[in-house]
Amino acid sequence: MSKEQKKPKISERRKFFTLLAQNAGLGVMGGLLWAGYAEKAKSSPLTLRPPAALKEDDFLKTCIKCGLCSEACYNRPGNIDKETGKQRPATLKMAKAEDDVTIGTPFFKPRDIPCYMCDDIPCVPVCPTGALDLTSVTNKKDHKPDPKMMDMGLAVVDTNSCIAFWGIQCDACYRACPLMDVAIKLEYDRNERTGKHAFLKPVVNMNACTGCGLCEHACVTEKAAIFVLPREIALGRPGAHYVKGWDKKDQERIKSRVNKDVTTHDKRSEQKPQDYLNMGVEY
Ligand code: SF4
Ligand code: SF4
Ligand code: SF4
Repeated sequence: MSKEQKKPKISERRKFFTLLAQNAGLGVMGGLLWAGYAEKAKSSPLTLRPPAALKEDDFLKTCIKCGLCSEACYNRPGNIDKETGKQRPATLKMAKAEDDVTIGTPFFKPRDIPCYMCDDIPCVPVCPTGALDLTSVTNKKDHKPDPKMMDMGLAVVDTNSCIAFWGIQCDACYRACPLMDVAIKLEYDRNERTGKHAFLKPVVNMNACTGCGLCEHACVTEKAAIFVLPREIALGRPGAHYVKGWDKKDQERIKSRVNKDVTTHDKRSEQKPQDYLNMGVEY
């Protein structure tokens, strides 16, 4: 066979390159679609997980998306509508593609359906993997589940939209709280504008609030003026470089720190943090 015969004809070559380009285009499009899907598969940082869930990273590694927690929540005895005698929807939902949550994982939205802080916390012991950690909600004294130990998030009051902060009497969230006067209190304050009325402001105790969201569910404003956020979102973080002088653990923590990230070298960068924190340094 001659060299001429081995060469594909111009039209065949064109077809070949067209097909190649088409396939490459499809590959790129597929990649883009997958990237979009993967992005969507990530949970919003505002996602609220079931009671006793591990920290988000560990939870995602451990949860096998079996849905047993959601099923237990649905089947809990208190979940029957007294009027119709029918089972109500569960607090815990398994995320679908349209939810802003990793697909197939359990979550809840208190404004729709809050957690009712069931005495026996039935959603937790059914978890087969420990993604919901029963020990974190078990009272050490009587070895029984203790709903007060739940930590799904922290209720935060938007003082701009809470009408109690305007001076209008409202205690819907306070009354809805299963830990009334412990997790949420009403604080009296004089209304300087009128001089004769009092404010009754809801104030959340961050050490007692479980994040059940019964307050958010009960809030009377159009968009809830009290709402539950994951703790790490609701609370600020001081930053690892702040050290409590009175805390031995903190003191130990900075001893082990070396200036790994420092790229310039001067008198100061030769010091360890406790050198200039505790003794001062000359510049
Ligand atoms: S404790 Fe909350 S999430 Fe668990 S079963 Fe009861 S209502 Fe559902
Ligand atoms: S029961 Fe446990 S493993 Fe199953 S979906 Fe719920 S959290 Fe995930
Ligand atoms: S989320 Fe609201 S109702 Fe639940 S414990 Fe906290 S303050 Fe009370």
